[in-house]
Amino acid sequence: SVSICLFTADLRLHDNPVLHAALRSGAQVVPLFVRDDGVRAAGFDVPNRRAFLADCLADLDAGLRERGGRLVLRSGDVVAEVCSVAAATGARAVHLAAGVSAYARRREERLRTALAAAGCALEVHDAVVTVVPPGAQVPQKSDHFAVFAPYFRRWQDTGVREVLRAPRAVSVPEGLGSDALPDRRKTAGLSPGLATGGEREGRRRLTSWLRGGLDAYEDDASALAGDATSRLSPHLHFGTLSATELCHRARAHPGPGGDAFVRQLAWRDFHHQVLAARPRTASADYRPRHDRWRRDEKEAQAWREGRTGYPVIDAAMRQLAHEGWMHGRARMLAASFLSKTLYLDWRIGARHFLDLLVDGDVANNQLNWQWVAGTGTDTRPNRVLNPVLQGKRHDPQGAYVRRWLPELAGLGGSAVHEPWKLPGPERARYDYPDPLIELPDAAARFKQARGLA
Ligand code: FAD
Repeated sequence: SVSICLFTADLRLHDNPVLHAALRSGAQVVPLFVRDDGVRAAGFDVPNRRAFLADCLADLDAGLRERGGRLVLRSGDVVAEVCSVAAATGARAVHLAAGVSAYARRREERLRTALAAAGCALEVHDAVVTVVPPGAQVPQKSDHFAVFAPYFRRWQDTGVREVLRAPRAVSVPEGLGSDALPDRRKTAGLSPGLATGGEREGRRRLTSWLRGGLDAYEDDASALAGDATSRLSPHLHFGTLSATELCHRARAHPGPGGDAFVRQLAWRDFHHQVLAARPRTASADYRPRHDRWRRDEKEAQAWREGRTGYPVIDAAMRQLAHEGWMHGRARMLAASFLSKTLYLDWRIGARHFLDLLVDGDVANNQLNWQWVAGTGTDTRPNRVLNPVLQGKRHDPQGAYVRRWLPELAGLGGSAVHEPWKLPGPERARYDYPDPLIELPDAAARFKQARGLA
C-alpha cells in the first residue's frame, strides 16, 4: 500500500514523526511538498523565505535520493494536489504535521473532508513542530497559558518524546509527475546576506553551535555585537531541524548555556500554544486595549528604512534588510520603538518583519510583536525600552551600530549611540538624520495614550 507524507513545516529526514509514520504505514511512500496557492495568496511567499525554501527542498530531495527515493513537488491548491496524488497512487493514508495557525487548521479540515470522500485517511501528528504539543498542558481554568512563567514550569515537567532516526531507505511509487525544483538563484529581491537553507546546513550549524556557542549563550545572548545566539531560527521555522532533537541535545550538553537555550525553545512553544488556542491573535490584539494608534506613514517608512535617528534602531533595521534576520534583542528594541516610542500600530511593524525575516513565523512574530507592544502576554505591558540606554547596555562599544551604519563609523565607543550630542560642526560631518522624536515627548505621549499620565 501507499502512504503520502505531506511535508509542511518539517522539511527534514531526521526526527520526523510524519515521515516515520508514513513509512511504517505503507510499503511505499510519496514524499510530497505542495507550493500552496493559499500561502502565496496570504502574502507569506516572500523572496527571502522563498529562496531559503528552495534550498530546503533541494536538500530534502537530495537526502531522499540517497535513500532510493525522491521528493514529489507540486504547485497549486494543496487539497486538490494531495487528492490528485492520492488518486494516482491509490494511497490509503496521508500523514501531516499538526499546525497552529488558522490557515493550517483550515487546511487540515479541508484535507480531512476531501480525503474521506475518496476513502483515504488523514493522520495528523503532534510534537513535530513544537517540543510540547499545544494544549498538552493547560492551566485549570483555561485552554492555554497566558503567562510564560507557569507555562514554563509545566513545560519542564512534561515528558519529551524520543528522537527518531532518519530512514535508511525510502521507496517511492514510479511514474508520478513532479515540478522542477525551484532555484534559489532565480529568486529576485533577496537580502544579500541571506543564510543558506536545508537540513544538511541546519545540522552543520547545530553541531558547530553545540561545540562552540552554547557554553557562552547564557552570558552573551543579549550582546548585539557578539552575535552569540544560535541563528537556528530559520531551521526551526522550516523544520529542517527538529525542536525536540534540539531540546534533547541542549539538555544533554554538559556545560552551561543548555538551560538558557532550552528556555528559549519553551518560549517558542509558548507562543505556538497561544496561537493554537487563539488563532485570531495573528492579527487581533490578544488583550484588546483599544489603542488609538497614531498614523504616520512617513515615520513608519523611516523606521523600515533605518532612518529614525536612533542608531541602535537603525542598525537593527539595516541588519534585517541585509540578512533577512535580526538579533533577538534588536527585534525587541525595534518593535518597542515602533509600537511605543512612535506609537504606531504593531501590525505595521509585524508585517514588515514578515516581509523580510527568513524565520518569519506567524506564532513567533505576531505574538512577540504583541508581547512587546503590550497587547499580548507581557505581564508588564507598559514598559518602554529606551533605545539609547538599551543601545549602551547591549552594544557598549558601539560595534553593532558601526557594523550596520557605516556613516557613523567615525564615531568611537558608545558615543555612537548619541550622535546628536556632538558639537554643531562635528555633527554636520555625519550624514545621519536627527531623531524622529525626543524620547521624553514620546514617553509623555505614550503615558497619555495608555491612560497612565
Ligand atoms: P536563539 O537565541 O539562539 O534561540 C534559540 C531558538 O529559540 C530560536 O531559534 C527560536 O526558535 C527560539 N526563540 C528564542 N527567542 C524566542 C522568543 N522570544 N519567542 C519565541 N521563540 C524564541 N522568532 C522567529 O522564529 N520568527 C519570527 O518571526 C520572530 N519574530 C520576532 C519578532 C519580535 C518583535 C521579537 C521580539 C522576536 C521575534 N522572534 C521571532 C523571536 C526571537 O527573536 C528569534 O527567534 C531569535 O532572535 C532567533 O535567533 P536565534 O535562532 O539566534 O535565537
